[in-house]
Amino acid sequence: MATPMTPAQWRAVLTAEGVKYTEYQGWTTRGRDAATGKAFGPVHGVLNHHTAGSNSLHAVAVGGAPNLPAPLAHTFLPKSGVAVLVSCHRANHAGLAAANVYAAIVAEKTLPKQDKSKTVDGNDCLYGIETENLGNGKDVYTRAQYDAWVRWNAAICRHHGWSAGSIAGHLETSIEGKVDPRGPVEGYGDRGRFEFTMKQLRADVDERLKHPASWSPGATTPYTVARGDTLWSIAASKLGDGNRWKEIAELNSLKDADAITPGQKLKLPRK
Ligand SMILES: [Zn+2]
Repeated sequence: MATPMTPAQWRAVLTAEGVKYTEYQGWTTRGRDAATGKAFGPVHGVLNHHTAGSNSLHAVAVGGAPNLPAPLAHTFLPKSGVAVLVSCHRANHAGLAAANVYAAIVAEKTLPKQDKSKTVDGNDCLYGIETENLGNGKDVYTRAQYDAWVRWNAAICRHHGWSAGSIAGHLETSIEGKVDPRGPVEGYGDRGRFEFTMKQLRADVDERLKHPASWSPGATTPYTVARGDTLWSIAASKLGDGNRWKEIAELNSLKDADAITPGQKLKLPRK
């Protein structure tokens, strides 16, 4: 159980996590709380979507969809990877979620198949992001878009102390046969083109959460330990921040900071 993030918290956590974003006018007050008489929160998880369209910003922020008033998410994520904050209050994105799946999200357990006999209103308690993609299985999520997507999910999880077990895809919660998100991804970190799956997104978010918010995925650099080196001195000279010695330790499965010897080969994370 957690209190929805304030505008200041949204800005802080996204900036720390390296998400580039802009603010859609009115996002700090826009929401469906007054219209429905139901306040947003407490929050229990994050729901991911694709837009199934193009140029969807206006619809997601203010235009809405037939019989579905906007906002249609908290964040819109276009192909550029520069997120747009459209709301921090109640948004119409989740619809009815299967209660058994919802319980698993709250408990951060493996999600079961939807039991449609009992539902909860996902708009009460789930953050939502609409990522621009036609959803036809051919339209490609750009590298920048997927990277921002992982960071956005991780930023929320990090803020609330959640693992990636708190994030889900609409296709996993919906009782109406939703299929989003899906589609090919251009690449991520060292990975080339791959097919979007929630399993992969959760793995990528959990990997991010093992690192500081400033971390970037991808290529490692080889380094040979010199006499007098410590993990701290290597991190300070090669990564520009001695405190990142923990990343080097983790990347090389080292048990403690003293466990290096001259001549030893290490992998260094991206600067
Ligand atoms: Zn959806």
